[in-house]
Amino acid sequence: MQKLVKPQWLKIKISTNNNFTGIKNTLKQNSLHTVCEEAHCPNISECWNTGTATFMLMGDTCTRGCKFCAVKTGNPMKQLDADEPRKLAQALSEIKLFDYVVLTSVNRDDLEDGGSAHFADCINEIKRAYPSIIVEVLVPDFRGNIGALRKIVNAKPEIIAHNIETVERLQRKIRDIRANYNQSLSVLENVKKMNPGIYTKSSIMLGLGEEDEEIVQSMRDLRAISVDILTVGQYLRPTNWHIAVNNYIKPEKFEYFKQKALELGFLFCASGPFVRSSYKAGEMFVKNIVKKNKI
Ligand code: SF4
Repeated sequence: MQKLVKPQWLKIKISTNNNFTGIKNTLKQNSLHTVCEEAHCPNISECWNTGTATFMLMGDTCTRGCKFCAVKTGNPMKQLDADEPRKLAQALSEIKLFDYVVLTSVNRDDLEDGGSAHFADCINEIKRAYPSIIVEVLVPDFRGNIGALRKIVNAKPEIIAHNIETVERLQRKIRDIRANYNQSLSVLENVKKMNPGIYTKSSIMLGLGEEDEEIVQSMRDLRAISVDILTVGQYLRPTNWHIAVNNYIKPEKFEYFKQKALELGFLFCASGPFVRSSYKAGEMFVKNIVKKNKI
């Protein structure tokens, strides 16, 4: 098979400034993690240099082993840092991130509630510390545990994201055996049922061998359960252990999917080679739609 060559539009320069160093130091001092580092995100310079990061709660070890994800897999043996909510609020103060924050977590299948009570404590603590902050959370599927999801919903983040990651046909190939398409759709559907005022969001990676029509069908499936926001990005292989890139999608094609998403009724769609679930999450448009209708 011919070796795929990374196209020009996927080559980026890494640079760091004082903001970047500040975030790095704050994370170290507070023993916190970010998905920016753990998932080898290509946008880390751009985001950290402009003072934004996505915090990854409940440690750096995920109980799942998806074929696309760089986060470490293992068994955290039920360990949780009970002081994490406070440390998180402290970190936001040090980074001066007071208007929009994105929190995500590893999967914690070792904990009965998947860690949802701890996740909710983190949301509650930063909302208590910064009452006007907009909180976006990217949550695990909690293995379909409705009670666990309800704890997150009850903490009232403004946006709850859960990623379907890829089209239905490729789920088994790239996601952990415990994850699946319908379970992920149910998470998003249940959020809206529990609180229709919370915005829902999902993300799809391209370049794994999906057909255009399958991508559009995934968009329709998300709109059928009233998902509001969509991000679409290029899959990039973190290491040789991970699944290979099938193809590189041209920027024009990302623009096509963005238009398609808007036609289907998403309120906002970010689509581009480097777009990740949390990329420019607090962009003006998202901030405005959330502020207009604050819960
Ligand atoms: S896109 Fe998200 S994960 Fe990547 S560096 Fe930016 S904030 Fe971090």
